Amino acid sequence: MASTIVLGGGVVGAAVAFFLCDRGETDVLVLERDQLGAGTTKGGLGGIRHQFVDELDIRMSQLATAFWRNFEDRTGSRHDFEERGYLFIANTEVGVAELRLPMPLYHPIVGAVPGVAGLYIAAGFSGHGFIHAPATAQLVVEEMLDGRARTIDIGDLSLERFGAGRRPFKAAVL
Ligand SMILES: Cc1cc2nc3c(=O)[nH]c(=O)nc-3n(C[C@H](O)[C@H](O)[C@H](O)COP(=O)(O)OP(=O)(O)OC[C@H]3O[C@@H](n4cnc5c(N)ncnc54)[C@H](O)[C@@H]3O)c2cc1C
Repeated sequence: MASTIVLGGGVVGAAVAFFLCDRGETDVLVLERDQLGAGTTKGGLGGIRHQFVDELDIRMSQLATAFWRNFEDRTGSRHDFEERGYLFIANTEVGVAELRLPMPLYHPIVGAVPGVAGLYIAAGFSGHGFIHAPATAQLVVEEMLDGRARTIDIGDLSLERFGAGRRPFKAAVL
């Protein structure tokens, strides 16, 4: 039995395993029911951006982008990271309204599961799960190993947010 089990080998699970090992954990097991990256990650476009309305999204992107830029140095693996620009266009009022719509489920659940010692969740990502994966992983590993995420406060992503009345998110996309 491993001391830490990561359930799911998508981009987030793989990143969590990486950051656990980066922090010195040596007994990490990733359990994947299919193949690594065979889930949503397989369909993702891999677009990376900083443009969000909500500050937390921007801060997560900044933290993650620093990792993406240094991916090869950090991991020793090749990565075709190219900075070419990124643009969302809505050409109807309905389209604009949809881009601005604040939806709580556009944001993931990241952090400890209350009442279950040692269980953490990092799931439920919308169209920015790939971008944020290194930041998500770094921060949830900080919660696991240090008791709380130190680099960025991710309390607003907690499972408890749904019952605790934390601030509503601003639109996810714009
Ligand atoms: C068309 C499309 C375009 C996208 N474009 C972008 C983009 O440009 N930028 C961006 O940031 N994001 C984008 N995304 C979103 C991004 O791809 C996801 O947010 C991200 O891949 C989620 O990663 P994950 O590791 O959480 O989930 P997944 O990749 O789904 O990984 C979960 C893994 O868990 C495994 N699993 C599930 N249950 C079990 C079990 N019981 N036992 C063992 N294993 C299990 C699954 O097989 C799967 O491999 C896009 C998504 C889609 C579909």
